[in-house]
Amino acid sequence: MEMEMKSYGTHVLALPYPSQGHINPMLQFCKRLVSKGLKATLLITNFISTSMNPKSTSVRFDTVSDGNDEGGFMQAANVEAYLETLQSAGSKSLYELLNKYKKSGIPIDCVIYDAFCPWALDVTKEAGLVGAAFFTQPCAVNYIYYYAYHGLLILPVDSGSLPVSIPGLPLLELQDMPSFIYVHGSYPAYFKLVLNQFLKVEKADYIFVNTFYKLEAEVVDTMSKLIPLITIGPTIPSFFLDNEDENDKEYGLNLFHLGSSNPIITWLNTKPKGSVVYVGFGSMANLSEDQMEELAWGLKESNYNFLWVVRDSEEAAKLPKNFAQTMAGKGLLVTWSPQLEVLSNEAVGCFFSHSGWNSTIEALSLGVPMVVMPQWTDQTTNAKLVQDVWKVGIRVRVNEKGVVGREEIEYCITEVMEGNRGKEMKDNAMKWKGLAKEAVSEGGTTYKNIDQFVSKLSTSSS
Ligand code: UDP
Repeated sequence: MEMEMKSYGTHVLALPYPSQGHINPMLQFCKRLVSKGLKATLLITNFISTSMNPKSTSVRFDTVSDGNDEGGFMQAANVEAYLETLQSAGSKSLYELLNKYKKSGIPIDCVIYDAFCPWALDVTKEAGLVGAAFFTQPCAVNYIYYYAYHGLLILPVDSGSLPVSIPGLPLLELQDMPSFIYVHGSYPAYFKLVLNQFLKVEKADYIFVNTFYKLEAEVVDTMSKLIPLITIGPTIPSFFLDNEDENDKEYGLNLFHLGSSNPIITWLNTKPKGSVVYVGFGSMANLSEDQMEELAWGLKESNYNFLWVVRDSEEAAKLPKNFAQTMAGKGLLVTWSPQLEVLSNEAVGCFFSHSGWNSTIEALSLGVPMVVMPQWTDQTTNAKLVQDVWKVGIRVRVNEKGVVGREEIEYCITEVMEGNRGKEMKDNAMKWKGLAKEAVSEGGTTYKNIDQFVSKLSTSSS
């Protein structure tokens, strides 16, 4: 691609919402931009910078304040308070950063901001720069929020308004709606956060969505008639998608756990093909003690090998006594896994997950069928799509006590690992894997979209 470059190159500043599930895709997107000739700086909060382990990467890092420099989210009194300081301290800090870079040899041309931080667009525009919104969640979920933002959903969603019909989406029952919508009374701050993604979004010069076109074609087309969307996913290093770029193995900032991942992969390598259930619930979900216990017994009873990420001692305390020791050899419990490496390992036959969006698109793009046990936020809608639209997994059923029982867990795992439906799901997952690879490969939708953005930005800022 021919482009005119300034001596310092075109420079984007990326501002993810400060959590693992938002930082990972933004970092990967930045890496793709760098591979196409841009300079990219990723902002992490002062607090996160003290606990993470940034390995050398082509992306530069800098820090921004969220007003809670000592303890991050945990330092704030509640969600409302956190989001307020994130906005006030974040705006001030971003303004100062833009000035800092203006005086340096590498001024910023464009700010790519997480749609959870719409205030960043005001700062960007005041500075006269190009602003790009980045939507981390799937297009389907964004469209539901868009609908609600514009008053097109009858809220609260109740039996009178079900199933919910939104163009481009399957009919949605209560359990399929993002939890911030159907129980929005209980999460007012998050409800506001997800709706405010559309605040002044029409002023953004670009709107990126972390999905790929063929995965959500209908809803992307429908929503694009209202606001112009650019699909740029899956934001997974090319190494894992096509095994081409050996140097592109580094796939995320591990915010919580340092240390080597090799023992996990060594353990997986001792297991036969398709014999392991990988169990992981992302970086935030907390299961109840009852649920942890049912899951533990369900895994034991299903009698497959399993690798289970139990994040910390608080979560581990909910396990049945001596569970890890009892299961030694059959089950490996770890506090963190190199998830893409794990999902790429042929020993893994099924991913038992919370259907967080990154986990979902990672499994789809790597051809791994799923059992999904959504907890909240977009996970409930992702689970609907996984089961009924992409047909790559089964959603567990919650019993009358509000937990997913051990028999149900055993049934769903066995069905995915060796049932007839499981075979279809595996075939479908392999189909999506091929389409994900196609999207990011030369001539694919994501590839072309990123190329066009880089080319336009480089021309406009030269
Ligand atoms: N992740 C990981 N190892 C773990 C757990 C999570 O590498 O043990 C990564 C995972 O690959 C994904 C992100 O952390 O990229 C979690 O994002 P997701 O949207 O799935 O869940 P969230 O943490 O936002 O609930």
